Amino acid sequence: MSNITSIDKAFVANTYNRFSIEISHGKGAIVYDTDGKRYIDMGTGIGVTAFGIGDDEWKDAVVEQLSKVQHMSNLYYTEPCARLAKLLCEKTGMSKVFFGNSGAEANECAIKVARKYAADKKGADYFTIITLENSFHGRTLTTLAATGQEHYHELFAPLTPGFVHAPANDFEALKKTAGQHKIAAIMIECIQGEGGVVPLDADFVKKTAEYAAANDIILVVDEVQTGNGRTGELYAYMNYGIKPDVVSTAKGLGGGLPIGAVLLGGKVESVLGFGDHGSTFGGNPVCSAGAISILERIDADLLAEVKAKSEYIFKELREAEGVESVSGMGLMIGIKTKKPAGDVVKACMANGVLCLTAKDKVRLLPSLNIPHDVLKEAVEIIKRACAE
Ligand SMILES: *Cc1c(COP(=O)(O)O)cnc(C)c1O
Repeated sequence: MSNITSIDKAFVANTYNRFSIEISHGKGAIVYDTDGKRYIDMGTGIGVTAFGIGDDEWKDAVVEQLSKVQHMSNLYYTEPCARLAKLLCEKTGMSKVFFGNSGAEANECAIKVARKYAADKKGADYFTIITLENSFHGRTLTTLAATGQEHYHELFAPLTPGFVHAPANDFEALKKTAGQHKIAAIMIECIQGEGGVVPLDADFVKKTAEYAAANDIILVVDEVQTGNGRTGELYAYMNYGIKPDVVSTAKGLGGGLPIGAVLLGGKVESVLGFGDHGSTFGGNPVCSAGAISILERIDADLLAEVKAKSEYIFKELREAEGVESVSGMGLMIGIKTKKPAGDVVKACMANGVLCLTAKDKVRLLPSLNIPHDVLKEAVEIIKRACAE
């Protein structure tokens, strides 16, 4: 065991079953381990480094802000936070933004907004939130309660009350569940990421959005993984032609620095007042400067590039030996393989490609600007790993 691995094993809490490689550095879609071995990064730190490792424009933006001021708290105005909020609103038509530091925190805020809206409008007993079975919304006690997968709940009871789960893609069941409780919000991922890269049916999403609007129920879309260009649109809900009241996002937004954002539509823009919510690090100038550099470049050309690369991956893998099916959207892709997904990931790693898993699938979340020749090299290696 190397020194780094042994120190990590001795001193870092045992919550991660890490692969036995130590990443040292990288550039773009390529990373190297401490033995100098090269890997193509098809996981981007779980959909985080949207433009790859050490992207020059992103790095310049971050370093420039670092040289000015790295943090001032939310007691004062700083330019990157204000500019990022404006950019997010202009690109989505949402009205206001609250900044936090992670996906779970963004969802916590979304839940607080929905509950306060419902309490103000309908009464304090309208607090129940419907989420979908097989969803994932985070690791805090409240977002675990929101997560519709029992095995995440078991060890940590009691979780935050007021969450019920309905099966995905069954609108009648969702309506029945809604009829049995006093509902504040319905919260969905348009593509269930951790649940196995499973897109929701367009018809279900549309009916759910219409039902929420008709009943003054807040529709929260969790775009933590699907957001920021990942699916070929800026946010995945845009593929479905719906307009959520609240959008939470994080992962890819900061290009590798921790930032989460909650986008508030007109209906809920004023629900939170002074002191109702807050975050010490939220809207941090360095993270915000990095996020501006990412978001500014997610334009029509980049999204077209994401879609073209997606088509290429689907086409190559769908017919490939050892592949049962391919799911997902844009550069968020799940591959159901004949062999166990873990075995495919290990074979890929041995051959210089880093992939993720989601449930029983191999999951790919490459950088949005991965060069085509590098992508082709990775796809060939993945195909071989599936076939072997
Ligand atoms: C990753 C993820 C989260 C949690 O984000 P953290 O930054 O790890 O707190 C929440 N929702 C979805 C859909 C995710 O993919």
